[in-house]
Amino acid sequence: MRNVLFVISGPSGVGKGTIVDLLLSEDSDLVESVSCTTRAPRAGEVNGREYFFITEHEFRDRIAANDFLEYDEHFGNFYGTPRSFVERCLKEKSVLLEIDVVGALNAKRLMPERTVLIMVTPPSLQELERRLSARGSEGEEALKERMRRVRYELDQAPLYDYVVVNDDLQRTKHEIQEIIRKEKEKSI
Ligand code: 5GP
Repeated sequence: MRNVLFVISGPSGVGKGTIVDLLLSEDSDLVESVSCTTRAPRAGEVNGREYFFITEHEFRDRIAANDFLEYDEHFGNFYGTPRSFVERCLKEKSVLLEIDVVGALNAKRLMPERTVLIMVTPPSLQELERRLSARGSEGEEALKERMRRVRYELDQAPLYDYVVVNDDLQRTKHEIQEIIRKEKEKSI
């Protein structure tokens, strides 16, 4: 069995966070990498659990020290995957990253043999729009902006190794567990 870097991406609102939590709770051979970010913690977020919250100064120092496997900027904040954590974990387990399409493609470029990209998509754009507007936390313009971002992300699906439609949480989870099992068994 080989240890694989699994990257799960998908537009916001698609339910990937819930899927990732289920995958981790049911597979002790899978560990999630916690990213670093310069954005402020949201209510309920804990340093070291959702992210390591660090200053922009520290982030830049760590870029200079080549400490990130990949990093990117979203909405004016930096996000990065700690290289040493991922490399250390991969010696013993498979690692899961929940990051956006740009980060995913960078990770694949850096470790092409070891990285498997999985995109989770909504059953339909209308369904996702319904879910996002049901959250009710944003105005119409913000929702339109989010939907533009969703379309951009879904357009990258052909670059992924697997595309999984989240039509039913349990079914989707099983499909991804099967992908993980098969990929770990491959000998490359
Ligand atoms: P949020 O601020 O809502 O938690 O995340 C914003 C975006 O940053 C999401 O698209 C998320 O996938 C992405 N992201 C989180 N961690 C990383 C990372 O380590 N690298 C990259 N490239 N993107 C990340």
